[in-house]
Amino acid sequence: MVGHRSRISVAPRLPARCRRAFLFAGAAIAWSQAVAGTSPDMPDLALENPAPGVYVHYGQQAEMTRANFGDVANLGFVVGARCVAVIDTGGTFALGRALRQAIRRVATVPVCYVINTHVHPDHVFGNAAFADDHPEFIGHARLADALRRRGPNYLNALRRDLGDVAQQSAIIMPTRSVATIEEIDLGGRVLSLRAWPTAHTDTDLTVFDQASRTLWLGDLAFVGHVPVLDGNLRGFLAALQELKTVRANLAIPGHGRALAWPGAIAPEERYLNGLLADVRAAIKAQRTLAETLATVDGEREQWLLFDQFHRRNVTAAYAELEWAD
Ligand SMILES: [Zn+2]
Repeated sequence: MVGHRSRISVAPRLPARCRRAFLFAGAAIAWSQAVAGTSPDMPDLALENPAPGVYVHYGQQAEMTRANFGDVANLGFVVGARCVAVIDTGGTFALGRALRQAIRRVATVPVCYVINTHVHPDHVFGNAAFADDHPEFIGHARLADALRRRGPNYLNALRRDLGDVAQQSAIIMPTRSVATIEEIDLGGRVLSLRAWPTAHTDTDLTVFDQASRTLWLGDLAFVGHVPVLDGNLRGFLAALQELKTVRANLAIPGHGRALAWPGAIAPEERYLNGLLADVRAAIKAQRTLAETLATVDGEREQWLLFDQFHRRNVTAAYAELEWAD
């Protein structure tokens, strides 16, 4: 296996107006570990503009590959009078660079904020493409720790699976963390950020654009693509219950097309509730994990990428519920 070179980069300089008291200790030091070399260019990104100043790029319903440049998650941005806020940057530097170019085609104001909805590689590895904009990199209060623990393995896997397309992809640490609820002002346009208890992951952050009432859900919502559990199943369902009370005109999932909110989240809830009921029943019947995997079928016909993720979900749910009340 070919090793990778590491480099330490200087933290992005924070605009003075953004130096806020709640920057957590040490956060101003961004750490990056990049896959060296120059990544190939990808084609221009398709953007949709569902509301004034709201832009979405829908990723493919697939796993990350060299051919798709890691373009498998939904990305987007919101444009205010003073600033652009980017919401997730994609699975590679090449994709983040294409997103940055797409932003330049429709907005003249600078990118002040890059928000990551959670730790997963298909949402964060484009961050480095925005380093020259010197934005605040914003994430859940646990994102920095999660990136420290998982980042090196994510980078190794990216290089293994995507080869030269992974080049320049890097781990960029958040410079600002959200522990509960915060607001950022893009100039006459306020985004509300909310950090969630462990659900899809332990780093889930949602973004609500008050002007258009667009709710960015990250991977708390999957459409088409089978939901993925990498956190806490009961927390996932609890977060959805609470999110359903948000009066949004439009909701953007992490994967799949935009949702009418909250009605269209019903298939995901049905899948997750079914997983909870089935795994609880298997544990009550004293089935082993292997027996449970063999019997909990889920909804194969209803979902894309079912075979890649359903058994993993059963395993995660079993581990969570085995010793639970
Ligand atoms: Zn995810």
